[in-house]
Amino acid sequence: MKRKQFVVIGLGRFGVSVTKTLIGNGHEVLAIDIDEHKVQEISTDASYAVQIDATDEVALEQLGIHKYSHAIVGIGEDLQASILITLLLKEMEVEKITAKAKDEHHGKVLTKIGADQVIFPERDMGRRLGNLIGSNHLVDYLELSDDYHVEEILVQKGMSHWKIEDLEVNRKYGCTIVAIKDRKQNIDISPKQDRVLREGDILILIGKPKSIQKMQKDYDKTVK
Ligand code: ATP
Repeated sequence: MKRKQFVVIGLGRFGVSVTKTLIGNGHEVLAIDIDEHKVQEISTDASYAVQIDATDEVALEQLGIHKYSHAIVGIGEDLQASILITLLLKEMEVEKITAKAKDEHHGKVLTKIGADQVIFPERDMGRRLGNLIGSNHLVDYLELSDDYHVEEILVQKGMSHWKIEDLEVNRKYGCTIVAIKDRKQNIDISPKQDRVLREGDILILIGKPKSIQKMQKDYDKTVK
């Protein structure tokens, strides 16, 4: 993986977690917070850690922020600071800005002023957990867009010995099985139609969330 340079502004739980993950993946991170203690705590993990008020344009410029290809703004509570900092980063022509939003209104403003990616950690984690624990089959999923998901579906006992073709995922639900992961984590990419399913296999499929949900409901009824 190519080593990239990131700047993370706001070292709450979110900013710290992003920083540690980026560092763990071999990237360079400049970590910034207004609070000296937060800066000290991250100083052994981040490549550089600096205490400044990031709403201070001059202080940001002195750090050469424009040279960083991606900035992450992890401030949720202080709306004014979050918005002003995002605006300054935009003016400094930082290539990509990801900003954390506390709620939908905050998110809308961040998008309007030019954040390239707005994330809602609490809302998204809640939605994710709700989807995962509310389903009998869903193991994990990834939102490719609002319209398409990649989902991992557990093959249950009643479905074992079926062949992929028996599922008719494409004809009935407009979905495609892109891979199957077995219990030993072996991955079969583009599995053949006559591949036999075993209990504990995980189907990795791509499709519209509603269609995948319908498919799971139908299988629930069939295998009972
Ligand atoms: P989390 O949920 O990630 O723990 P939070 O939303 O509860 O975070 P916030 O109040 O959003 O916490 O603040 C996140 C961090 O941003 C804090 O460590 C805070 O000191 C820092 N911060 C706030 N304003 C500024 C600023 N102007 N410049 C730099 N850092 C700031």
